[in-house]
Amino acid sequence: MSNSTLLNELLDYNKKFVEQHEYEKYETTKFPNKRMVILTCMDTRLLELLPKALNLGNGDVKLIKDAGGLVSHPFGSVMRSILIAVYQLKAQEVLVIAHYDCGMSGLKAEPVIESMKERGISDETFDTLTYSGINIKQWLHGFDNVAESVEHSVDIIKNHPLMPKDVPVHGLVIDPKTGKLDLIVDGNKN
Ligand SMILES: [Zn+2]
Repeated sequence: MSNSTLLNELLDYNKKFVEQHEYEKYETTKFPNKRMVILTCMDTRLLELLPKALNLGNGDVKLIKDAGGLVSHPFGSVMRSILIAVYQLKAQEVLVIAHYDCGMSGLKAEPVIESMKERGISDETFDTLTYSGINIKQWLHGFDNVAESVEHSVDIIKNHPLMPKDVPVHGLVIDPKTGKLDLIVDGNKN
């Protein structure tokens, strides 16, 4: 199926969705009913499973997703989203929920760079980025241990200079098959 067919399918469905007022059952506000912001992975298996396994419906939480559920930079867009959720959108707790069998687990930069080259990114481009001070290998590197990765992200959030000290930051790992949560960091105990 070509991409444009998939897009047209989405647009056709969307038209009916709006016309038939399907949105009415999702109406809510921008403030989370459960005063939380959750950072998790973009994994497809978590799309519905994670909210169902945590009893979350539309309007319940702020949800941030990236590959791995990682805060890789203290002044990147993920950390900014968390701060906005806390300061502007009434989130009072932060949850980092990574998962087992994550695509970022054990991810090495080299095969990704090889794929980029196969898709037409030139050696010169990589050289230019390197000369500009960008460490592509480090940037594309995943994590080796999911629990340690969660602890690290919790640590960055908890100790961020702009983070209020009274916001608990919890760390968990979810099973992408059963939805079972393992608690790694209980933010109420720190
Ligand atoms: Zn993942």
